[in-house]
Formats: sequence, C-alpha cells, structure tokens
Amino acid sequence: MLPAANQSLSNRNRKGTRAAVLEAILLSESAVRGEIARQANLSEASVSRILSELRVDGMIEESRIAAPYAGGPTSVISVSKDIRVAGFELANDRLSFGVGPLSGAAEYVDRTDVGPRLAQADFELHFDEGIARMREWIDERGIVPRRAALAIPGFLPGRRNPILPWDSKRLAEFLTDRLGDLPVDITNSVVAQAALRRYAGQDPPEEDSHLFLFVGHGVAGTLVHGGGAIDSFRPYEIGHMVIERGGRTCRCGHHGCLEAYVSLGAMSQILGGTELDISAGDSAAIAARVAKTNCGSEIHERLVLLGVAVGNALNLEVTNRVRIGGWPSLLPDMARDAIMQGLGESLLGEASSVQLDFVAPALGADPKAALCFAAHRFVANGAPMVGGLDQAGEAVA
Ligand SMILES: [Zn+2]
Repeated sequence: MLPAANQSLSNRNRKGTRAAVLEAILLSESAVRGEIARQANLSEASVSRILSELRVDGMIEESRIAAPYAGGPTSVISVSKDIRVAGFELANDRLSFGVGPLSGAAEYVDRTDVGPRLAQADFELHFDEGIARMREWIDERGIVPRRAALAIPGFLPGRRNPILPWDSKRLAEFLTDRLGDLPVDITNSVVAQAALRRYAGQDPPEEDSHLFLFVGHGVAGTLVHGGGAIDSFRPYEIGHMVIERGGRTCRCGHHGCLEAYVSLGAMSQILGGTELDISAGDSAAIAARVAKTNCGSEIHERLVLLGVAVGNALNLEVTNRVRIGGWPSLLPDMARDAIMQGLGESLLGEASSVQLDFVAPALGADPKAALCFAAHRFVANGAPMVGGLDQAGEAVA
C-alpha cells in the first residue's frame, strides 16, 4: 500500500485528508502549517480548511510562537490532549490496561499478572476486573475514550492463533459487549509495536520498507512500510519457524521452534532460571550478568539461530533491511556478530548486503503499544466525531 503522502489529493476523501493532516501533526508533535502541508502532500489552503474543521471539533490545539523569521509561522499545532484512547495488551505474562492521549503516553496504567498460557475464560475474568477499575478512573475524570485496541501475541487475521487458541468470534463479541459504543480493534503485538515505534519517532515516515522483529517473550515480525497504514501490516510469527526438527518444546505445541531457543524465557533459563529484569532495559546490567554467568557462548549460539531464521525469512520477503527490538537490543555487539553469522548460513546472497539495526528494546512498556495502535486507528479513520464520519466497514478485526 502506498504511503498516504504519495496519494494524490484527488484520490482522497474527506476522511483521508483529515487522517493525513492529523498523522502529520502527530508525527511532529507540534507542527507548523507549512510543514503539515509538506508532510501530508496538501496545499496550505487545504490544510487551513482541514485545521479549521479540526479546531471546531476540538481535535487540535494551537499555541502562539514568535515568528522564527519575517513572515514565518506564528503558531504551532498539536493534537488535543483531551482526545483519549484506551489500550489493552497481553504481554510479559500480564494483562495491561491503559488510557492516554493520541501521542501514546499512558496516563492510566493497570497491570495484572496472568501467567504465560491464559485460557479464554480466565482472560474474560481478568478483563472484567480490569475494565471495571479503568471505568472508575475515567468516570471520575469525565473521560470518554474514542477508540480502543487489544494487542495480543499470535494474532493472525482469519487464522488460528498458535499462542492463544481462543475462539475469535467469542473474543470479538465479548469485547463489543463489554465496551459498548467504544470501537475496538484486535491486533498482533508486533504490529502494535510498529505503531509504538512510529509515534515515538523511531520510524522515519519516508523510509523504504524493512523487516521489524520483536524478540521478547515471543518472537514476531512485520514488514514495515515507511509511512504506510500500520493496520495493513501483516504479522509474521517467525518465532514458530521450526529450526531444529524434534528440538525443544514450544508453547505452540510444536518442537524446535525458534521461540523455544531465543525468547526471554529461554534466556532466563540460560541465565540461571530467574527472570531478566526487562523493564529497566539496562544494557550494562544485562551484559554484566551475561559475563558473570559465563554463558556468553550459549547466548551467542542462540543468537546465531535467530540469524539463521531471519535469513530464511529474508529469502522469502524482499528487503535487505532488518530492525530488531526486544532483548537483543540490550546486547547489540554480541547480537550483531551472532546474527550476521546466522544470516551468512541461510541467506541466499551476501549477508553483508543486509542492513541490520537494533532499535529501542521497548520491553515492559505495555500497554503503550496498544495505545499507539488505537491512536493510529482513530487517526486513520479520520478522527470521527461521535456519530459523525461514517464508520461503515470498521468491523472488529
Ligand atoms: Zn512454536
């Protein structure tokens, strides 16, 4: 799909134009008119019209600034902090609830430990408790979230979830029943992570596509098109690529899946059976721990396996750019050596042609990724007023 900025104005409806303007504002946090026009590929006159409309809708805020040069802009525009979304995320063995503005910041966070293999009925019980606490918080403040998203691992549209073998129809009906008028989307954790990266300014909009891989409790990837619609990104459950026939048992029921070798859980086992403190995201502490436990070569071997799997994935998907988040980002030197070695063993062509980068680990940030995905869906849908723009076709995923 083409990035919004490449679509001609004539192809855009009002919803699309509002979406392009809001996305440009959101990506620059506080933007000036000319910059919005450039980013959204619209004339300044069109941007002015849309901004007036968004101002009336209470969607944007303007603050006066001293013109940086004669005739320069005298106001910066940001998305109103009063517009809020809700995010629910199942990650790090916990169910998190969040509420926040479109920037993805979490003003409200509530987390419940739920363990690694949550049954659907238990999810529903935990969700009911969490949503009751969240409702109390928003009611006290008179907040009405405009969009919600649930990010879960293993979610593949139209296919069985290998991690959470739940009844998808029951899940959609449950959410609709509990959330009433609040539109909600279900997405894969890695697609939500891609939204988090974009709104945190870590994913420049005009870039070529790259494979984004997240290595946490699970391992998943998605092909990120710079500036493209995130909700069209397809998740790849690369963690369930079998790399050793009859190998280690995986939570999906198969044996020898990549995840069983390189997940955070597998790392914790190597590092003496205790959980890694992921929330601190402290590179130095983890490197020190690896050095102390004398298990560097074992971790190196596991990262080579990750490289082999990535090489296999790149043989199928045409890109030579890979960005990795999650725990390997905390050991970037070791991870780069090992992954490049693995790539060399599986990639057709020169491993040196692959541009490998490590990005912010973003571990333990749940439910921020779900909040960012909800914000993306709200903006992509033209930031509808309640009962305003047509929402036909926006069915729960
Ligand atoms: Zn598996």
